[in-house]
Amino acid sequence: MVDNHVTQRVAELRQEINHHNHRYYVLDDPEVGDAAYDRLMNELRSLEGEHPALVTPDSPTQRVGATPAAGFSQVQHRLPMLSLANAFNQEDLEAWYRRVKGLLDDADFDLICELKIDGLAVSLAYENGSLIQGATRGNGNTGEDVTLNLRTIRSIPITLLPADLPAPPYLEARGEVYFPLEEFQRLNREREALGEPLYANPRNTGAGSVRQLDPKVTASRNLQIWVYALGDTGDQARPEGHWESLEWLSRLGFRVNPNNRRCRTMAEANDYYHEWLEKRHDLPYEIDGVVIKVDPFALQEKLGVVGREPRWAIAYKFPAEQAVSRLLDIGINVGRTGSLNPYAILEPVVVSGATVRQASLHNEEDIHRKDIRVGDWVIVERAGDVIPQVVGPIVERRTGQEKVFQMPERCPVCGTQVVKPESEAMHRCPNTSCPVQFFELLKHFVSKGAMDIDGLGEQWCNILIGQGLVKDVADLYLLEKDRLLDLDRMGDKLATKILANIEASKSRPLYRILFALGILHVGSEIADLFAQRYASLDDLAAAAEASNGEELTQIPGIGPKIAESVADYFAVSYNRQVIEKLRQAGVKLFHEIQHPDSNRGGSLPLHGKNFVVTGTLSGFTRREAESRIKSMGGSVTSSVTGRTDYLVVGESPGSKLAAANRLGTSVLDEAAFVDLLNQLDPEPVS
Ligand code: NAD
Repeated sequence: MVDNHVTQRVAELRQEINHHNHRYYVLDDPEVGDAAYDRLMNELRSLEGEHPALVTPDSPTQRVGATPAAGFSQVQHRLPMLSLANAFNQEDLEAWYRRVKGLLDDADFDLICELKIDGLAVSLAYENGSLIQGATRGNGNTGEDVTLNLRTIRSIPITLLPADLPAPPYLEARGEVYFPLEEFQRLNREREALGEPLYANPRNTGAGSVRQLDPKVTASRNLQIWVYALGDTGDQARPEGHWESLEWLSRLGFRVNPNNRRCRTMAEANDYYHEWLEKRHDLPYEIDGVVIKVDPFALQEKLGVVGREPRWAIAYKFPAEQAVSRLLDIGINVGRTGSLNPYAILEPVVVSGATVRQASLHNEEDIHRKDIRVGDWVIVERAGDVIPQVVGPIVERRTGQEKVFQMPERCPVCGTQVVKPESEAMHRCPNTSCPVQFFELLKHFVSKGAMDIDGLGEQWCNILIGQGLVKDVADLYLLEKDRLLDLDRMGDKLATKILANIEASKSRPLYRILFALGILHVGSEIADLFAQRYASLDDLAAAAEASNGEELTQIPGIGPKIAESVADYFAVSYNRQVIEKLRQAGVKLFHEIQHPDSNRGGSLPLHGKNFVVTGTLSGFTRREAESRIKSMGGSVTSSVTGRTDYLVVGESPGSKLAAANRLGTSVLDEAAFVDLLNQLDPEPVS
């Protein structure tokens, strides 16, 4: 008989783990760090180990991942996609090796050591060399069909490279899709600039980007893949072992990690682990351990699988990069769009080699859900190079003096009453002339992707605001040279350059000014969608006003949240005044080319046409060609897909031309492109 307490604890653990599995595998939004999750799993494993009668087939120890989410078609894996047994220390690892050696009668074999990429497992199926299906692991037997999303990942070959090899009739490659750290940080910088909450870590954001119903979102994330195993290969002969199969996959054009190593002994495998434990932060992606695999397939088959884990491989995990510190206070940052972002002010603590003084707390809801109080001892975690997080409080160490956090009612910068829109988790300061907001807005307005006013860096923005020369963005266009020359360290040359750049910015394309205004949720891609539909800022404002945003949601890609935000923006009379001032100052608030019989972007000659530009053109820079297309209502994307109407090719076009030929996309060389523009444009290109 098993003690009641044990039965109850097992039930509790299962319930808790199932909850975390759902958050992690289905929602891509875990509530706890991996170390906390692993502790729960280990406790459950050890209780089940001591009381085998309690093991049930539906226990999380027996199952992989989670059931595929609704919204995707399901894919039945020909060979199950398994999990891996874990070792958390050297003893675990040695015990695994002894067991393997014992089961193989002390046979001699190589160990293949690989980095354990922290991403999302996918299986890619190829028929006669063409990608026919891409799937997630799901519950190991049934995954989600994410083919369209995976096709947007450039390092996943659409066709294999069979130059010197016959294309295999059927082949599955398995690998981990991940979010490169630099791309992840870039995405967060963009979100910060838009006043949107930051993503917590690359693993879950990457997984969420693949498990997306809209492939455009996946495409915009610049994800990558490392392929680490061969799946089913149908009837054809397979290589003899894992190492050889990795070499084969690499020759077929898959991205196979160059840090994989064939080791003769366990000692060498151990060295590999310690080497990467040291060097893990030098990598441009996250790893959470190393994976050690028995090489020969014949021995792998002999070892077989127990439950959800093959016996022939083990994940040797890195220790959690966590530390305990005191939460001294909760500070508030005000973002460009007025979002109030709480952050933890900590007693300095070293986490994986770096001193952490501040950590992210996301938003008020998250603080309350985790019950984090000022004065608490908290667990701080660093995930890769990303912003440290407060995982949660150590409740047992409370003294009773801790204080429950409350969001301030007034903006800590300008004192305006804070608002919290129902649909959002963030509190906001609604005062667009709030100094922090304005400084952030000005920096954004002059930045490269927006009005691109070179020479006006952060420092000058600060000085111009501090000296009262710029109180709204339109004031930039009223700056006079004499006033600039009065400023410390401003020479004649710089003043002339800044003024010339300000002048040049008056005729940026419509989507740039729309983006530059800093409307909440309107990033450059969204601004582009509006600029394709409307011929001027006034048209957009009128459409937003007439229907309180409703009409805007007719545009593919524009949801109610964006529409509401645009309508709110134009409803504020201060914003209208600034726009008027920009117009008076000569800033172009419309498309250069207006169609004679309509003021709607919908009637612009290239409306609805998708272009990709590749290779070197002789008469334009790539940017010029793109802005020409956009000014005529067309849209430009970076990769050729089934939705691309035209590929414009210059010299040395590369793989995009091959993709266009495969998909039957119309290809325009430079002469044909110029002809097209000339046919449609009243001001011909010479
Ligand atoms: P796992 O991630 O520990 O190991 C199996 C997976 O490793 C494979 O499916 C594959 O995706 C991946 N992998 C990466 N590199 C590999 C390589 N070179 N060779 C083979 N496989 C490689 O096991 P799991 O079952 O996918 O997930 C369990 C882990 O996920 C936990 O230990 C925890 O870290 C995390 N998790 C966290 C939460 C949470 O709430 N924080 C919830 C569920 C799971």
